[in-house]
Amino acid sequence: MSEEHNFFQFVGPVIFFALAVGFATIRYHAPFRVSAGFFELSYLFRSLAFTADYFRPAMPPDVGVFLPILLFLAGGITFCAGIFHLFSLRVPWWVLGSIAVAVIELFGWYRFVEDSLVMRIVIMNGISAGVLIWLAIAIRHRIARGVDRLLQVLLVANSVQFVARTAVMLWLEGGTLTAANYSESLTAVSLRFATIVSTLAVAGTLLAIYGVEITARLTRSSETDPLTGILNRRGFESRVAALPDGSAQEGPRHGLIIADIDGFKSVNDRFGHDAGDTVIARIARLLEEGAGSEGLVARWGGEEFVVLIPNGGESLARLYAESVRTAAEAMGHDCLKGEAVTISLGITELRPGDTLRMACGRADAALYEAKQAGRNRVRAALKPSPLRLVESVA
Ligand code: GH3
Ligand code: MG
Ligand code: MG
Repeated sequence: MSEEHNFFQFVGPVIFFALAVGFATIRYHAPFRVSAGFFELSYLFRSLAFTADYFRPAMPPDVGVFLPILLFLAGGITFCAGIFHLFSLRVPWWVLGSIAVAVIELFGWYRFVEDSLVMRIVIMNGISAGVLIWLAIAIRHRIARGVDRLLQVLLVANSVQFVARTAVMLWLEGGTLTAANYSESLTAVSLRFATIVSTLAVAGTLLAIYGVEITARLTRSSETDPLTGILNRRGFESRVAALPDGSAQEGPRHGLIIADIDGFKSVNDRFGHDAGDTVIARIARLLEEGAGSEGLVARWGGEEFVVLIPNGGESLARLYAESVRTAAEAMGHDCLKGEAVTISLGITELRPGDTLRMACGRADAALYEAKQAGRNRVRAALKPSPLRLVESVA
């Protein structure tokens, strides 16, 4: 027994310290400074608590009782704060503060008024269990991914563990526990063991949550155009690939539009590149507002945009194109001394067997016709002629 308890008491602080260093690294590098900072503090406090627990026999008895508990309490409160922050919830500091005060008062009572080790064990494990359930409930509306759910399950499992383990241990040893034999008791050893196992599971899940979040942010930024904030070509292609296939069904198909600002070279020449940038961003917003929440709008390159209006067929695409064309024509720009810019648009719809490249090719050809016809207008791609189909069969 003694060797086991020495092993966990030695391994505990090392593991907690290593985790503190891990979260410090995340705090330093990633955009999660606050929550990772709280977890760093939490694991540091718990490393110190384990260390204090180890030196308990060498301390004056009251220090030996209170120091590890105060450190565990600090570790628990900073852990809660980290969880609230991680899930973008406000940290209920007054609840956490009240819990801390209650724990200290109860410990004081069961030390100085009525010296009961069993009651101190019940309080510590019971409050830990309660707080973990509270956290699991608090984050329930913020569960977005599998790793979030895993964390919630671990919080609940850990809570159950605190209650069940304590009940079994006290049933086995409750009558014989004393301050002198506590450190080597099954109760203490099982607490240390369970703490280490659950800490590793929870910390691993937290690290996975950070990993998933970092990847999601990188993907988002690699699919966004920095000037306009709308999708870039890569983002557009991946969104379109994820769409239910509008070209295969019988009903209305997806409309595809390519829009290009007219005479933009001269805008740059007359008003400067910065003014040009501002105009590109304003036209992007105009296109996006018109496309509604279902539409996809992306910057295809330079002063050229691509829009997908789902399920409306060519007629809805034409309606959209005409409305944004007139809106652009009517929109004066301060950076151009009140002048407006016009846009030309080519439209088509996604047909059975189409690739995005093929549909864009048709929309581009239609756009070219709009430019040829004098700009500031909408042109649709030619429909495949049924006559020609018949001819080719004949
Ligand atoms: P057209 O009516 O035929 O479309 O004429 P245009 O002048 O708009 O066409 P062209 O493709 O010849 O010129 C597009 C210009 O857009 C050239 C380029 O300098 C400018 N441009 C491309 N990207 C940006 C950008 O990010 N910011 C700014 N300010 N200008 C850009
Ligand atoms: Mg142009
Ligand atoms: Mg162009």
